Amino acid sequence: MPLVQLRNISKSYTLGEVDIPALKDISLEIGKGNLVTFVGPSGSGKTTLLNIIGCMDKPTSGSVLIDDTRTDALDRNGAARFRGENLGFIFQSFNLIPVLSVLENVEYPLIMIRKESAATRKEKVMRLLEAVGMADQAEKRPDQISGGQRQRVAVARALVTNPMLVLADEPTANLDRKTAQDVIALMREMRDQYGTTFIFSTHDPRIVEHADVIHGIEDGRIVDHSSFLEGVHHG
Ligand code: ADP
Ligand code: MG
Repeated sequence: MPLVQLRNISKSYTLGEVDIPALKDISLEIGKGNLVTFVGPSGSGKTTLLNIIGCMDKPTSGSVLIDDTRTDALDRNGAARFRGENLGFIFQSFNLIPVLSVLENVEYPLIMIRKESAATRKEKVMRLLEAVGMADQAEKRPDQISGGQRQRVAVARALVTNPMLVLADEPTANLDRKTAQDVIALMREMRDQYGTTFIFSTHDPRIVEHADVIHGIEDGRIVDHSSFLEGVHHG
């Protein structure tokens, strides 16, 4: 059974008396353990779609099923609990807490869900920092490491609660191309190691090559992605 099932998802934003359609009748399935990307230009609906899958927002119509839960039917508290227990997030601007160390940033989601002792937390954090190659930077603050390193820390933070699904909205938009490719490759490694399903969005067709499944998105609809990949040469 697929991990995520979207059925006839439409989403409109209302601005005054005007309805702005952002997603138009999207139906698709995402298999467990896949690294999936949505690629499309600015304004195509990527953030709206990831917010809906991430239980941050609800569709205007249609249904979202994640691992047997109708997440579009959850109330505010239910959605917050579902996110905390099942989902991880990686952001374009990294969103690390500047006054906390690398170690404390990765530990933070574990403190929020209040399930583990301090010793277990520390052990999990160090295992993840090891996995993303940042263990030797554990005591640094975010402003003492590079953008690529910050995003590696953010990948560790997203995984520390052992979520089934990690959502990353344009995680490489603030990185140079080489670093961007490294971060996507890291997600792939983490997928291989932990079996976590990853979904990331991007407007850059050059970084989608590590994904298992590529969905083009244009004007709120899923389209054939090959139009975005034309003219992209590797080398
Ligand atoms: P992307 O992430 O691909 O740039 P978005 O999902 O942010 O696309 O936006 C899709 C469409 O929805 C765009 O036309 C955008 O202007 C519109 N939109 C996004 N967020 C809002 C909002 N909060 N209010 C009104 N319109 C919005
Ligand atoms: Mg966006």
